[in-house]
Amino acid sequence: MPLHVHPDIAKLVPYSPGKPLDELERELGIRGAVKLASNENPLGPSPKAIAALSTGAETLHLYPDGGAHHLTRALADRLDVSLNQVIVGNGSDEIISLLVKAFVAPGEEAVMADHTFVMYKLAVTGGHGTIKEVPLKEWCHDLPAMAKAITDRTRLVFICNPNNPTGTIVTRDEVTAFMADVPDHVIVVFDEAYFEYVRHPYFPDSLQYVRENRPVVVLRTFSKIYGLAGLRIGYGITTPEIVDYLHRVRNPFNTNALAQKAALAALDDKEHVATSRVLNESEMEVVASELRDLGFHPLPSQANFLYFDTRQDGHDVFNRLLKEGVIVRHIRGSMIRVTIGQPEENIRFLRALKKVI
Ligand SMILES: *Cc1c(COP(=O)(O)O)cnc(C)c1O
Repeated sequence: MPLHVHPDIAKLVPYSPGKPLDELERELGIRGAVKLASNENPLGPSPKAIAALSTGAETLHLYPDGGAHHLTRALADRLDVSLNQVIVGNGSDEIISLLVKAFVAPGEEAVMADHTFVMYKLAVTGGHGTIKEVPLKEWCHDLPAMAKAITDRTRLVFICNPNNPTGTIVTRDEVTAFMADVPDHVIVVFDEAYFEYVRHPYFPDSLQYVRENRPVVVLRTFSKIYGLAGLRIGYGITTPEIVDYLHRVRNPFNTNALAQKAALAALDDKEHVATSRVLNESEMEVVASELRDLGFHPLPSQANFLYFDTRQDGHDVFNRLLKEGVIVRHIRGSMIRVTIGQPEENIRFLRALKKVI
């Protein structure tokens, strides 16, 4: 009997995780390869989070707190919203899937940029929804065009801010105009995975719309500046009504006990966040200026990565860098995304790039 796979699932392309570092080193017979491919914090997790993991190990025979009470409380206090406006997920990726599960019926639509975080497309297609992609304009979300793309069947709009992979942002004024145009049956999702890295003075305060009880979801994560990508924990801030629907579709124990404890400790380590932010800012300037010296034009980035046009086959450049022990991300065409690492990792990347171009 042939399998009856849903046509929406058959057309999905699995997310490509890339090679683990140790495997690459073994294949190439090299040591000290660097991974600048997934926008992780090069400084690692906060020491406080690591300490919380050791103590947390002693109670691993117990199920986690399914409501993630302590973490939810701490996030609500930190963001000045109420407890029932916060939901914790197995990475913010999970919250994207929960949104689709709760709000998008087969054939209903989600609006997103055509060059953005791949998870939106995977989640919506996998959830049997229809994707409406709106081209970026000068590498930024084209919010007026996205507002025009909304129909009666639109359930979600994804705004990735800063955008992955471009690093560009939409500003407060652009968002204000957009929010004035969005009808109330549409949930606007602001994915702010790189929020803590942003330096731009006109970055929007998306939480303002949550406080006004608009149907807005703000997604943040412990995977990026907090350095806990391996534990899988992120969160959403939204209205009590939307939180309630998301709780109905999640697994009862969607986040694990260690992730909750480590996230709580990491949230308290303001010094680690500040150090990470400062390192990123200064190193990004170094990498961007070296790239410019090589004749490239990295896009202005408010995140912890740079996106640039290699003006040759990007997949080739990616493979040649790989042979030099440097893993970056080839997104499409001639474009490459590189995460800002520690100084010696960035030097290694720049040296390898000079060699292969
Ligand atoms: C990395 C990233 C996330 C975070 O995903 P997690 O599931 O929390 O690890 C979410 N959105 C964007 C745009 C990202 O780049």
